[in-house]
Amino acid sequence: MRRTHRARWVVADADTVIHQGHLVTEGGVIVSVGSGAGPKGTAVIDHGDAALLPAFVNAHTHLELSALKGRVTSDAGFAAWVRDLLVVRGGYSDEVLFEAAREAVQEAESAGTLVFGEISTLGITRPLFDEKEAQGVWFQELLGAPDSLAMPPAHKEAPWISLAAHAPHTTDPEAIRQMKALAANAGRPFSIHLDESEAEREFITTGQGGWADFLTERGIDFSGWPLPADDPVSYLLDLGVVDDQTLVVHLLQSGPPHFRRLAEAGATVACCVRSNLLLHGQAPDLSAMAEAGLAVALGTDSLASCESLSILDEMRAVAAHAPGLAASEIFRMATEHGAKALGLSERFGRLVPGASARCLKFYPEASGRFFSFEWLFDERLDVRIL
Ligand SMILES: [Zn+2]
Repeated sequence: MRRTHRARWVVADADTVIHQGHLVTEGGVIVSVGSGAGPKGTAVIDHGDAALLPAFVNAHTHLELSALKGRVTSDAGFAAWVRDLLVVRGGYSDEVLFEAAREAVQEAESAGTLVFGEISTLGITRPLFDEKEAQGVWFQELLGAPDSLAMPPAHKEAPWISLAAHAPHTTDPEAIRQMKALAANAGRPFSIHLDESEAEREFITTGQGGWADFLTERGIDFSGWPLPADDPVSYLLDLGVVDDQTLVVHLLQSGPPHFRRLAEAGATVACCVRSNLLLHGQAPDLSAMAEAGLAVALGTDSLASCESLSILDEMRAVAAHAPGLAASEIFRMATEHGAKALGLSERFGRLVPGASARCLKFYPEASGRFFSFEWLFDERLDVRIL
């Protein structure tokens, strides 16, 4: 049934805010967006003084670690956190991990985050996406040197499925190349953590150090890897796996020259400010990334290193740590760039014809003629699904 939603504000995207606008939807899809009362002859829902806006996109999370919330030690450094995480995770059944993931999706959705880039190591969260309990892209993550590489089963019937390599310092370089090729051949995004920790940087630039010991402990032979390299970003670019369908995650240790090279290659980056602050005591330089022309999306990592999977919460953290960024740019990161990162620009990220009608609304406390994206940073804001 065709419906016309009228509202005081229709926030189509970061550059397009319509005062006294409308949104026509049918069958879960947006048919048209415009100013004024909209077409005659459709059912009308008048949302009064509300603002309508696209759903928030969590471009990087690990839903299957949701059961670990508050149970992993985070004050003894990153390597200790990873070791503790593996031990704690081993104490849960797949059923418990799955149920916690399902609850985490519902909680994030209640705060307006309706699209997820899920990185699954154990493979247990796929049914959430297959059964449409979660929207977005489900990445099967692989690391080490897997014996055989292939896209996950039945991926052709499930266009929301793809592959992710864990990181340059944990995954065989040839495996990274093959995973990227498999994802590209299927027309899917490919994701990889990049330049997150000092340990990763030490290992990639020297071939030695604490991470080398950690890999050896876990039986991963890295003697044939092209190390040492200049830095993790150069290493990944040299592997030839970075293009406009590549989503790199974190870039916590990188600077403007790397941001520019990744932007030239067309990559999108997902940043997880709250997780980075907890695990590494520092935040990525989002202002410099934006200045370098890099498309920045927002993620949270898992509940094992972040208080919530809500991108609205993440936007507020970004606003606090990058005061030079315009509120509208932070909104773009949370919507349009998130959708781009997941290869879902036609369905999510903006209120445009053809996009999903599953979008959001809130009632600004302020009145007046001018919309402010800073309203989103008010902790008391109540965002609902339209
Ligand atoms: Zn991650």
